[in-house]
Amino acid sequence: MTTHAYRAALLRFADDGTPLYDADGLLVVGSNAQGQAVVQAAGDHAALIGQYLDLPVQDWRGHLIAPGFIDLHLHYPQLDVIGSPADGLLPWLEHYTFPHESRFAEPAYAAEVARFFFDELQRHGVTTALAFSTSHPASVNAAFDEARARGLRFITGKVLQDRHSPDGVRDQTEQSLIDTEDLIRRWHGVDRLGYAITPRFAPTSSDAQMRGAGELAARYPDVWIQSHVAENRDEVRWVAELYPQARSYLGVYDSFGLLRERAVYAHCIHLDETDRALMAATGTAAAVSPTSNLFLGSGFFDFGAAQDAGMRHGLASDVGGGTSFSPFHTMLAAYFVGREGHTKAGLSLTPSRLWWLHTAGAAQALGLGQVVGGLRVGQEADFVRLNPQATPLLARKTAQANSLDELLFSLIVLGDDRAVAQTVIAGKS
Ligand SMILES: [Zn+2]
Repeated sequence: MTTHAYRAALLRFADDGTPLYDADGLLVVGSNAQGQAVVQAAGDHAALIGQYLDLPVQDWRGHLIAPGFIDLHLHYPQLDVIGSPADGLLPWLEHYTFPHESRFAEPAYAAEVARFFFDELQRHGVTTALAFSTSHPASVNAAFDEARARGLRFITGKVLQDRHSPDGVRDQTEQSLIDTEDLIRRWHGVDRLGYAITPRFAPTSSDAQMRGAGELAARYPDVWIQSHVAENRDEVRWVAELYPQARSYLGVYDSFGLLRERAVYAHCIHLDETDRALMAATGTAAAVSPTSNLFLGSGFFDFGAAQDAGMRHGLASDVGGGTSFSPFHTMLAAYFVGREGHTKAGLSLTPSRLWWLHTAGAAQALGLGQVVGGLRVGQEADFVRLNPQATPLLARKTAQANSLDELLFSLIVLGDDRAVAQTVIAGKS
């Protein structure tokens, strides 16, 4: 690609998570040796422009360039399950989610939903996602086809669920593992795509299926693993009944070799200190899903304990349990969850920390901290152009911001898809 330069306020993140901000910034995007669109230079406009005098500069002053958002956990087939009323997680799965997911055996149906899903991500400024498909290989192929056509860095996998699941979504143990390996070979590492071994959660996989998933995880160490753990108390009790010998719910995954770098578990609410230490020691990450946890009344993720344990974590929408694709809504909900001080110690996550958890911190949780998320030189050029004047109140509030945190918090509290003026994927929008 040819080199492009953009002038606007510019937010980046250093390797250690420190926010870097230029009120009048310049972002230069060019190609690396592999022909990928990457950040060539980024920083203060006045300091850099001397080196790029013959380059036409896109003038976006008044707007903010920031890293594209990274959603660590959601279910693309649950697009139409958003906002379904139910009495907690298990009834919600039974009445809405499983019947809906059974339709994804049909490739044309899966393709239509995938198109809508990726349009929605783009509208909300999400440039990378780790998503569940359904138990049907057709659902995985549909998502990868669509993500590839859009040049996205995207990770998904076929759901494994061979028990405690109704007809239509339940798979067959042996075939499910053959399908998983076929899909890994077909898709993992193609362009920017990655495969994730995807047991739905411990209660819906037999020991044989879990063992097979662990064997595949060992055979393909750069493939991701994704599942759910310790979301709600009924679920935790059910797992304790199914696995009376396990030390904890997380311990079940450990016993099958499913905790390691590039393993990401949604929720991680009802963990203890031993669990958190195990996650930190194995490099396993938590996908914190606050709108979903508030919607389903599941509980409150303990950000302070996770930080103290050195456990990787980042933010996720968990659509359709989650109520919005918007990273702004997710960051605000994460703030609410952090503040909650009755079930754990309450803390105020800073606006730049919330933002990091949904960009560079999420990339780190995926093991992609050097690749995307911070707009550092050499990183892939996935970014958003945000309009701080998108609504009257947002314009009024951001005009009064005296610091980066004040600006970011106004966007977190008042922002939504209207603030996303443009989403640039691999240098293209
Ligand atoms: Zn989920």
